[in-house]
Amino acid sequence: MKATLQESQSLVLIVDDEPFIRMILRHFLQREGYQIVEAQNGIEALIIFKQLQPDIVLLDAIMPDMDGFECCTELQTLDCGKHTPVLMITGLDDQESVDSAFEVGAIDYVTKPIHWPVLRQRVKRLIQQSQLQQKLEAINLELQRLVTIDGLTEVANRRGFEEYFAQEWQRMKREQSPISLIICDVDFFKLYNDTYGHRIGDRCLQEIAKAIKDIVKRPGDLVARYGGEEFAVILPNTDTLGATYIAENICDAVRKLAIPHRNSQVSPYVTLSAGFTTEIPQQSSDLEEMIAAADLALYQAKAAGRDRFVQNILATQK
Ligand code: GH3
Ligand code: MG
Ligand code: MG
Repeated sequence: MKATLQESQSLVLIVDDEPFIRMILRHFLQREGYQIVEAQNGIEALIIFKQLQPDIVLLDAIMPDMDGFECCTELQTLDCGKHTPVLMITGLDDQESVDSAFEVGAIDYVTKPIHWPVLRQRVKRLIQQSQLQQKLEAINLELQRLVTIDGLTEVANRRGFEEYFAQEWQRMKREQSPISLIICDVDFFKLYNDTYGHRIGDRCLQEIAKAIKDIVKRPGDLVARYGGEEFAVILPNTDTLGATYIAENICDAVRKLAIPHRNSQVSPYVTLSAGFTTEIPQQSSDLEEMIAAADLALYQAKAAGRDRFVQNILATQK
């Protein structure tokens, strides 16, 4: 039967110390439409594996230098090797050898002398299964990403914020390094919606989210939509000076968007207020306290006239 397009693109790594076995395997599998690469021992197999990342490995059990069991164990430790099926080809079908093959991570085994129709089906099925598994994992990763993203603004959502903040706060506690948290809230946004309508309000939030994202550039930083018209910025490894710089730039950037807001009481344009705090997390401190401190600073920025940022110095850090 003719191989499908996908099979014909698959690369098979044949590992066997006997040239004759490699040759008959190669001929058979080439006829099935596979691309073939060969190694004559475990050490060579690992080198070729890292270079070419084949779709399946056919691995002889007994070889000099590094046998198939050891080679299979090594393959499992490679990042690129975790998903690749290893089919052991062994002259041994005693219980101990079969158990060993599975223990070291082989997905299946066939015995010598090779039963060709069986080999053909196993290779085909193992490649299909592994391709399917990789697709599912990619979909899963994408789903995981989507549940932490805000649909309107495409920054992290509240859940993404909670998870990342808890993780980074613990990390900074271990490293005894400062972490800063900025909470921003759009000024007179209820009035904005009342004036221009909810849809224009949504667009305004999108523009603000983008402006904040453009300011916050380090790979470890995170911008999140914290609530309706509130955004939070997590800045790991960032001290007071760094956070002041970012908070100031966020306020500036939103001002510079110059989105008209004719009913705002502080500016002809949309503005926001921000509160932030910085701390080196201690055993005695609590991450909720840090959020409350940034929130309090935000409240102070509102009370002081909006369109500004305020820092809250936590009692523990004074
Ligand atoms: P302040 O300056 O004190 O922050 O006043 P404010 O009007 O911004 O604050 P308030 O909390 O009273 O109103 C927030 C408004 O944000 C109310 C709500 O209509 C609006 N809002 C919240 N989420 C969304 C959203 O997803 N889209 C739109 N268009 N508006 C939203
Ligand atoms: Mg609000
Ligand atoms: Mg507001």
